[in-house]
Amino acid sequence: MRPFFIEKLIQTCCMDDQQLLRYSRHILLDEIGIEGQEKLLAAHALVIGAGGLGSPVALYLASAGIGRITLVDDDDVDLTNLQRQVLHTTARVGQPKAESGRQALAEINPGVEVIALRERADDARLAELVAGATVVLDCTDNFRTRHAINRACVNAKVPLVSGAAIRMDGQLAVFDARSGETACYACLFPPDQQFEEVQCSTMGVFAPMVGIIGTMQAAEALKLVAGIGESLANRLLMLDARKMEWASIRTAKSPDCPVCARS
Ligand SMILES: [Zn+2]
Repeated sequence: MRPFFIEKLIQTCCMDDQQLLRYSRHILLDEIGIEGQEKLLAAHALVIGAGGLGSPVALYLASAGIGRITLVDDDDVDLTNLQRQVLHTTARVGQPKAESGRQALAEINPGVEVIALRERADDARLAELVAGATVVLDCTDNFRTRHAINRACVNAKVPLVSGAAIRMDGQLAVFDARSGETACYACLFPPDQQFEEVQCSTMGVFAPMVGIIGTMQAAEALKLVAGIGESLANRLLMLDARKMEWASIRTAKSPDCPVCARS
């Protein structure tokens, strides 16, 4: 016999008994509750990259009950990935990462609809994918793709959670184009400036770095979807894992930004 107030809550919500149990530790939180969990279940997250960052991102979004997850990656699982890309397994080496990820998520939470796309999305395709998303998670590893994702998110006014990890350094930021008041990725990293392109295939990466940053990306995405607290928008968070020191830098919308400045 459930207490009356629980019965009353349950009558007005659309979750079944299994879902109420599965998500009970979220429902107990004042910040989430039944209303917040229903927002998560109704959401569609677009996760671009099913590698080191995409692994914890996808695992936490699925376990937390994001209703639909689109996982985009054109690569196959390689033995060198398994040191940090926890979505994948030794048995799935050689399989497409998007499909390997879909299998991992289905095992954790079969109630989540996972769309696995083995493709490298160009601008037109990104625009199409972003337009259907509640939140976008950039889990890629190169500036060109990051800028393309940012443009698509600014145009569609969809919030973007961006993460990066290399060697023992990590970065995290939220770009929320819904308000029009916060910086976008191109405000911080102008597309015409040359940045040193560093990738873990050449520089290496400390395995838990992608776990720390990816898990925080998932947390920011869940907060954005459920409307909890304050997002990281207008701040860039940087981690130096050698000393385990965080730095937080205030950022602002650039009036000269080629992507988001009003003409
Ligand atoms: Zn901008």
